[in-house]
Amino acid sequence: MSDLLRTPERRTCERCGRVEQYDDGVWRAEGLGNLYCIHEWDIDGTFVPIKRDRSVAAEEC
Ligand SMILES: [Zn+2]
Repeated sequence: MSDLLRTPERRTCERCGRVEQYDDGVWRAEGLGNLYCIHEWDIDGTFVPIKRDRSVAAEEC
């Protein structure tokens, strides 16, 4: 369980329940969730900001 928290390979939106998997440099959606949701990823709160730059870049792709 602690391994899941340490590596941001998977994230879940706390608002709509969308699930994305980090795969080869991009986030791939496993569940669509709400298209108009301003996703609130559960990794933002629990994750240390060390890898934040990478995840922000991935979101903009
Ligand atoms: Zn969402």
